[in-house]
Amino acid sequence: MSILTALAALALWLTLLALLTFTLLAAYRVSLKRHPYTDCRRCKGTGERRSRLFAHTFGYCPDCVGTGHKLRAGARLLNVR
Ligand SMILES: [Zn+2]
Repeated sequence: MSILTALAALALWLTLLALLTFTLLAAYRVSLKRHPYTDCRRCKGTGERRSRLFAHTFGYCPDCVGTGHKLRAGARLLNVR
């Protein structure tokens, strides 16, 4: 194999890789736009914080302020709203 064919093959592979990466990123961005929120991990999406001492009492979850959902990391980092 000559050096030119090797370079051509390399260029082809890099182009395909770039296209694949771009497609995946675009799909991720669409997903972020359509579903920007995820369940709050601390309260598992309930929005409430249960007392350990009195099982029937609860307060609002301080992480999600009682909403039960949080902005996804990608949406926060890429500023997708
Ligand atoms: Zn929460």
